Amino acid sequence: MNRKSFSGKEEFRYKLHLLKEAIDADALLRLLGFDISKSTSKEVRAPCKVHGGDNKSSFRMNKQTKNWVCFSHSCHEDGYDVISLVMRMLNLDFGDAVKYLGSITGFDIHDEKSYIEYKRFKDRQEVIQHTSKCELPPAHVTEEYLEKFKKFRSNYFEKEKNGGFPTEVLDAFEVSGGYIDKYGFQRDIIPIRSKDGKLVAYSCRDITDKAEYDYKYLLTEGFEKDLVLYNLHRAKNFAGESKTIIVVEGFKSVWKLYMADFKNTVACMGSRLTEGQRNLLYSTAFTVITLFDPDESGVKGTLNAIKEMRNKINLIPLFLPYADKDPADYTIEELQYIIGTIK
Ligand SMILES: [Zn+2]
Repeated sequence: MNRKSFSGKEEFRYKLHLLKEAIDADALLRLLGFDISKSTSKEVRAPCKVHGGDNKSSFRMNKQTKNWVCFSHSCHEDGYDVISLVMRMLNLDFGDAVKYLGSITGFDIHDEKSYIEYKRFKDRQEVIQHTSKCELPPAHVTEEYLEKFKKFRSNYFEKEKNGGFPTEVLDAFEVSGGYIDKYGFQRDIIPIRSKDGKLVAYSCRDITDKAEYDYKYLLTEGFEKDLVLYNLHRAKNFAGESKTIIVVEGFKSVWKLYMADFKNTVACMGSRLTEGQRNLLYSTAFTVITLFDPDESGVKGTLNAIKEMRNKINLIPLFLPYADKDPADYTIEELQYIIGTIK
C-alpha cells in the first residue's frame, strides 16, 4: 500500500486500524473486567460488563475487527468499536482511550518512530524479542493512571509460590495491574516513588510466567534507579530514634519484612548499593542494616557496602543462613529472629 497518497485523515484512520489489529481481544476484555465465557478463533463471548448483566453470551467481540455487540441491552448503540468500549469502561476521552490501547499494545499512533517499529514488528514478529529494548514506555506513570491500574491487579503475588502476600500488604504497596507489554504478556505493576513520595516509575512483573528470565520484571524506560531506594518515602517514617534503615535487594523482600513489622525497609533494586543510593541513606539514617540475597552477587554487594560505607555510617551487614533462600523466603518468625536481635 502506498501511504504517501493518503491524506492526513486517512493516514490517521489507517493507523487506528493498525492499532485495533494489534489488540488481543481476550487480554483486553480481561483487563476491562469481563469474565470470558467462550473464546473461539473468531469471537469472544462474555456477560456484558457495560450494563452489568449475567447472560453468558450477551456480549460478543469480533477478534478481527474488535467490534462488539450486546445482545441483551444493545449497549453497542452508542458506539460499537473497541475505542468506544474502552472510553466507556474506563471513563476516558477518545485521546486517552487511544493512548491506553497504545500502552497495552506498545503501538503509539502519534509517534512515527513507534509506527515504523510496529510495522517491523508485524513483519518479523518472531525476532522482535531480540531486537527490542526490554523496558516499558514511560507513558502512564502518573497518579491518575496508577489509580486506574489499581483495580486490575491480579492474584499473582497472593499465590503461595509467588510469596503468598495478603491483599492488605499488596494494597499498602499500591500493587496494581492490567499492563500488557508489547509482547502480549500481562503484568502487575509495582509503583516506585522517590524519597519525597513522587511517583517516578513502574516495575512490571510478568504474571503469565511466560516471559524469558531477563524480562520477568520490566522497568519504565529512562528511570534512573541508581538515585532511588524503593519504599524510602515510607520507611523513613519508621526509622525510629536510632534512625535505622534496613536495605534488601528486591520488592518482595521489602513486603515480607513489612509483614514481620520491619517497616523501615528499602530495596536497592539490584544486588549492590550505588553511590546515589548510599547518599540517600547518609541523609536519612544513622544505622544501615544490609540483608542481601545469599547468592554470589548478594555477598559481593554486602562486601561492597562494607568497603564503601563503614567509616561513614553505622553499618550492620547481615548474612542469611541458607544459600538458596532470599529474605522473602523466610517466615515472619525467622526474620524477626534474624533481624530482631540487632534492632
Ligand atoms: Zn450490555
